[in-house]
Amino acid sequence: MKLDVLGSAGTYPIADMPSSGYLISAGNTRVLCDAGFGAFAELTRRMDPDELDAVVLSHRHPDHCADFLALHHALAYGPFTVRGLPVFCAPGVAVRLAEFLGAGEGHVFFEIFDFHEVGETNHVAVGSIDIRFAVSSHPVPTIASRFEAEGRSLTYSADTGPGGGFPELAAGSNVMLCEASLQGERDEHHFVQHLTAAEAGGLARRADVDKLILTHLPPSLDRERSRSEAVAAFGGEVAVASPGDVYAI
Ligand SMILES: [Zn+2]
Repeated sequence: MKLDVLGSAGTYPIADMPSSGYLISAGNTRVLCDAGFGAFAELTRRMDPDELDAVVLSHRHPDHCADFLALHHALAYGPFTVRGLPVFCAPGVAVRLAEFLGAGEGHVFFEIFDFHEVGETNHVAVGSIDIRFAVSSHPVPTIASRFEAEGRSLTYSADTGPGGGFPELAAGSNVMLCEASLQGERDEHHFVQHLTAAEAGGLARRADVDKLILTHLPPSLDRERSRSEAVAAFGGEVAVASPGDVYAI
């Protein structure tokens, strides 16, 4: 299994650093996980959008799903004939995206995509990749994901605070892709439903993962500081995701 980082910027993108987007593949199976600002253009460097087998959208915040609208426009108005592409998403995501497009019943949006709202009870198979979900701790319905293929596993926190279902979902996975929106000590009054780098490191230690990849760092943060705070809490191998990074899982 392979993780190809399309974008990893938390909250907003800057040049050469799109927001959250990850291409996860095993064999001929390819899953796009999140589609934040700029992630679609990055995807097109690697493949045609009609080669996707499924999409996972963690939640309806625009830095995780705005570029799903770009995917829609490509598949609806470009030279592609995809219909019924499975989309596994948190409750409320499809409605919000449809509202933006003004897509009512019968709109091509609902022909191109086959939406499935998922939560912790769902377990789906997309080609050679099995996917399970958990409910993260975030202000809107949000799903964390666990991808398994070829005897290996990758868990993705999406956006989350401490708590929620992600820690249990991540237990024993090989690689943890975890948000680290914050640095230093936790401030109980600000952004309580995100994680500090040290908290991400603590989660990785308790989940006993082989490797931690930090993501969703706002562009203004010093990445090396986040990495060292996570290393101190985890004690294992820590990377900070950047667009273009490809990790063998
Ligand atoms: Zn969010």
